Amino acid sequence: MSEILLDVKHLVKYFKNKKGTLHAVDDVSFSIQRGRTLGIVGESGCGKSTTGRCILRLQEPTSGQIIFEGKDILALKRNELRKVREEMQIIFQDPFSSLNPRKTVSELIGEPMRLHGRYHSSQERDVKVLRLMDIVGLAPRFVNSYPHELDGGRRQRIGIARALALEPKFIVCDEPVSALDVSIQAQILNLLKDLQTTMGLTYIFITHDLSVVNYFSDDILVMYLGKMMEKAPSEKLFENPLHPYTKALLSAIPVPSIHNRPERILLQGEITSPVNPPPGCRFAPRCPHCMECCLQETPAYVEVETDHFVACHLYGRDPK
Ligand code: ADP
Repeated sequence: MSEILLDVKHLVKYFKNKKGTLHAVDDVSFSIQRGRTLGIVGESGCGKSTTGRCILRLQEPTSGQIIFEGKDILALKRNELRKVREEMQIIFQDPFSSLNPRKTVSELIGEPMRLHGRYHSSQERDVKVLRLMDIVGLAPRFVNSYPHELDGGRRQRIGIARALALEPKFIVCDEPVSALDVSIQAQILNLLKDLQTTMGLTYIFITHDLSVVNYFSDDILVMYLGKMMEKAPSEKLFENPLHPYTKALLSAIPVPSIHNRPERILLQGEITSPVNPPPGCRFAPRCPHCMECCLQETPAYVEVETDHFVACHLYGRDPK
């Protein structure tokens, strides 16, 4: 049995605004074994990024526990957190807006090492920067280039090099290829996969694109309006999706064969507001199988077969 690297328990993140309380992440729990990838999928605004950011404490969770290598990182003091932060990194969707345009590639990649005292001379820094550039497939000739002089793929390689600079164990990849041309997406995905193998990295891979996540993830968590809807090993989720929302998401993936194409499930209705959400299942107003109980009771998140969890009144108990 592999060791659990990250254990997230009952994570909640609410934002207060003028209209009330926005439930961005509402009781999310999962664990990830070392060296594996959990994909988190769902439509824009369902709480994927907030989950990732809370795990790294880039945002303070409202409540919950985040256990990383046995330590509850929400209970850590500032200097202890600084140490753990070296081991937990993030790759952002849009490398352009996350990179300081006035810094060169060398400065950008060297920055995390500078901030964490990882080199003692400029020579040592240069050697480490060039090594990282090599690891992420950036030619040495770009060492003095600025981000705007590079294409999206190369900019994302800078973002990846920065994430690797402190030799982390865990990386949140937050839509790392969504802003890239399709032709470049596969290169970056392959790079991330190779790095995982060679460096034994553990990933959370956040995306709205289910076709990407299937290729990349061992397990997939489907979220909707801050709630966990379904979680299963990737193959199981694709072969036997249970939640009506997962089924609708999967039916929207373009498939090359016209013979095996599942019928597209078009969801009716609007996404409900995450502010002061009503009781019941958050997906109920759009669900083709909505029952009376779905509008009144939040469905429990239950394991319906080994490693396959779902929060839906169609499963796990008889509807009243
Ligand atoms: P996703 O990554 O799935 O697109 P997010 O985690 O970015 O979703 O957002 C989840 C919800 O939280 C959205 O309704 C979003 O508007 C809200 N939200 C995210 N960050 C903030 C913030 N800093 N302040 C207020 N609301 C936020």
